[in-house]
Amino acid sequence: MAEKIHILVTCADMRLHNKDGYNVKSDVEELFDLPNTYLITAPGPDHKDRQAAVLDGIRTFSTVKEIETIVLVPHENCAGHPCSPDEHEKDTRVLAQEIQKLLPDADIKAALATIETDTLWGLEEIVL
Ligand SMILES: [Zn+2]
Repeated sequence: MAEKIHILVTCADMRLHNKDGYNVKSDVEELFDLPNTYLITAPGPDHKDRQAAVLDGIRTFSTVKEIETIVLVPHENCAGHPCSPDEHEKDTRVLAQEIQKLLPDADIKAALATIETDTLWGLEEIVL
């Protein structure tokens, strides 16, 4: 039986991926009570032009692992998808629906990474 895994889909923005400063992966694992997550990054992963790449990454994982959870985390102040929080939420719901078509049994969650400063971020859960 394939190993069950959890995947975080988020932006490639380096401000989210610090060793000592803010780290979105650790924050998401804590918020959703998940063990170590695999990572798929794209600049503005919820942008309609990047969704196919994200789906391709998920499809690739799904051929070798059993995907139990997928967490989608766009962020404010995103150069890859500069838009309002409402648009991030809307686009994230579209992406979630596409993923659910691909993986009907996967548990899909989402949160928006909100910015205070470049080194201080929060997570606000997006209801899908
Ligand atoms: Zn970004």
